[in-house]
Amino acid sequence: MAVGTLTIDLGALVANYRALAARAAVETAAVVKAGGYGLGVAEVSRALADAGARQFFVATAEEGVTLRATLGSGPAIGVFSGHTAGDTAMIRDADLTPMLNSPEQMQRHRTALPDHPFGVQLDTGMNRLGVEPGDWTELRDQGKGASLLMSHLACADEPTHRQNTAQLAKFHAMTDGMAAPRSLAATGGTLLGSDYHFDMIRPGVGLYGGLPFAEARPVVRLSLPVIQIRTVHPGESVGYAAAYQPDTPRQIATLSAGYADGLIRALSSRATLWDGDHPCPLVGRVSMDLLTVDVTECPAPPERLDILGPHQGVDDLAAAAGTIGYEILTSLGARYVREYIQ
Ligand SMILES: *Cc1c(COP(=O)(O)O)cnc(C)c1O
Repeated sequence: MAVGTLTIDLGALVANYRALAARAAVETAAVVKAGGYGLGVAEVSRALADAGARQFFVATAEEGVTLRATLGSGPAIGVFSGHTAGDTAMIRDADLTPMLNSPEQMQRHRTALPDHPFGVQLDTGMNRLGVEPGDWTELRDQGKGASLLMSHLACADEPTHRQNTAQLAKFHAMTDGMAAPRSLAATGGTLLGSDYHFDMIRPGVGLYGGLPFAEARPVVRLSLPVIQIRTVHPGESVGYAAAYQPDTPRQIATLSAGYADGLIRALSSRATLWDGDHPCPLVGRVSMDLLTVDVTECPAPPERLDILGPHQGVDDLAAAAGTIGYEILTSLGARYVREYIQ
């Protein structure tokens, strides 16, 4: 079998959900956008629903339609991108709750689906999505019927960043005195403490074992098959651009996985793979479908090596590539065999 095995520990996912929920005395929603952060929206959201999650969030109405088919009626599904042109039938038929982001979206929703639930996303300083303070003054009255008032923190992974308290103050100013439930915290905001929790926390990455939830249990393991091992001598080179040239004879294993499987090219010459407890450096360039790894120090020629596992989590691998765990998770490719364990 020349494809890698991606093992997704749903028991660890549920444990992370419960651990985050235990940090807050309010409802804990689950963010499952981008196919459950790349781990499989159906499996992930069913496990979370079984663990008691009643509120889910996705990025787009299309994702909401898929999630509704998985979850059936019951759980609420919020859509961060709101009610964009062309979404009306999906929002109505799949019973989605758009988080309206602008005066135009509020108008569109009121005209197209006047009796359908909605939330409002407010911009408290991230300048990415949400109704701006100036517009909100006029729209606040219409916002009274919202099932949720929410905003998103730009710097919550840095607990001492002054933008956190600035956004908190702005969120209070925009929503205090309104009856609708409120939500400000994703994973980072959840860890900032109860001032940030309001009526609902909505973690994503922490569920999947990623930072900033440092105590998270790892959820993914990725094991890659070795398809050849050869001796490479001084004076020879390995892979594209002849980027690796050994000084001494080395045993070089070729593994079946590459940047088309989410092992991004920025990992070239930087990542480490693991044969049990033995670290094996990735040498040379990452190819589309192949990696080359120095296995000289392994006790025996390995048949498989782990690139995500007990010795190296998504954030460790991300650090090697100069990115964040979110990008590693959501890039995990479609070619792996996916095994879900409890
Ligand atoms: C992605 C997202 C979340 C979840 O964020 P994490 O950092 O993954 O916990 C919450 N709210 C909004 C608006 C988001 O876009």
